Amino acid sequence: MCGMSQVLERARAEELDGADPLAGYRERFWLPDPSLIYLNGNSLGALPLATLRRVETVIREEWGTALARSWQHWVDLPARAGDLVGELIGAAPGQVLVTDNTTVNLYKLASAALDARPGRHVIVTDLDNFPSDRYVAEGIAFAHGMELRLLPADIDSGISPELVRAAVDEDTALVSLSHVAYRSGALADMAAITATAHQAGALMLWDLCHSVGAVPVELDGCDVDLAVGCSYKYLNAGPGAPAFCYVAARLREVLRQPIWGWFSQRDQFAMGPRYDPAPGIAKFMTGTPAIAGTAAVEEGARLLLEAGIGAIRDKSARLTGYLVELAEAWLEPLGCMLATPRQADRRGGHITFCHPAAERIAAKLGEAGIITDYRSPDRLRFGLSPLTTRFTDVWDAAAATRDVITCGG
Ligand SMILES: *Cc1c(COP(=O)(O)O)cnc(C)c1O
Repeated sequence: MCGMSQVLERARAEELDGADPLAGYRERFWLPDPSLIYLNGNSLGALPLATLRRVETVIREEWGTALARSWQHWVDLPARAGDLVGELIGAAPGQVLVTDNTTVNLYKLASAALDARPGRHVIVTDLDNFPSDRYVAEGIAFAHGMELRLLPADIDSGISPELVRAAVDEDTALVSLSHVAYRSGALADMAAITATAHQAGALMLWDLCHSVGAVPVELDGCDVDLAVGCSYKYLNAGPGAPAFCYVAARLREVLRQPIWGWFSQRDQFAMGPRYDPAPGIAKFMTGTPAIAGTAAVEEGARLLLEAGIGAIRDKSARLTGYLVELAEAWLEPLGCMLATPRQADRRGGHITFCHPAAERIAAKLGEAGIITDYRSPDRLRFGLSPLTTRFTDVWDAAAATRDVITCGG
């Protein structure tokens, strides 16, 4: 056999799994169906066993037995969980809060940013940004009589610093972008784009939904102003678990949060007549936090921190690289084209292909127990979660995709 065919043998995937320093983490998750190949952790991450135990304790003991007395330690859980998430995204303590969902956090931070840039009337985002990100910006621009500038980001290669540079000026109040593009997985240059926004005098807001737990992020190091992200993708906190928001310490006391709720009040239980915002990151709370979900965020973050974001990124690059290699041999000749940057340091944790029958291929794979997902208009996404995805899963999924397409999928 020649070298090329050996490279494509399943035995190679088995070797890669054997040498994988993170292989043991798969056992830390509740994955009861051994035949299931789950490549959708970029949409809903798997359930850590520690979370199963923790949430049961929260429900049975903290709520069921201790009842309202638990508020003593629940009350600062969103900030404690936020500090743990902060470790994953390069944020020093006191700048991250686990609260609300991503959409609400986008609204809070974008509104606060506009208030802090009076006289400027432009919000910049990109046409291929996630729907909530665009809609919230559109809604705020509408309510304030502002202009929404939508950059023509490339659907496959994402957003470049040059594109942002050409769009910002002295009218720009806020630039709001996703760090990893949800459709293509393209990774934006956070440092360069943030600097570009700042040169124009605008504030910079990053959405980290597809970054946290997959890609190293240095919010403090990149001088980022604001960031949001969800917790149910690579952070594995489960459906409806709260999202997070980051506000740089230098802006924390300056910004005004638009939703004036009692959990962001300085002396919450004084029930006073007027709103007086709490100092610190607590100002970005709204109402009663979702405690069980916040506890799940804490467990998810702990597991990722234990594995180490460096090791996670390293495996992620090798998993996605392996899928690209198999696709070059098997899928691209069949017209299933890579729609993610080929260079590993230009992409996040998932790989996307473009094929006219993408929706049908995803459905056929699903029937065979291989969970991927379809994204409009003709994209097939394979989410590779470093703590649970094996190289053999990648091989099996690539081979099955080839067979589905060959058989008229
Ligand atoms: C998943 C995702 C969201 C989700 O927003 P929610 O309000 O938490 O549902 C937002 N933005 C991006 C970029 C996403 O990938």
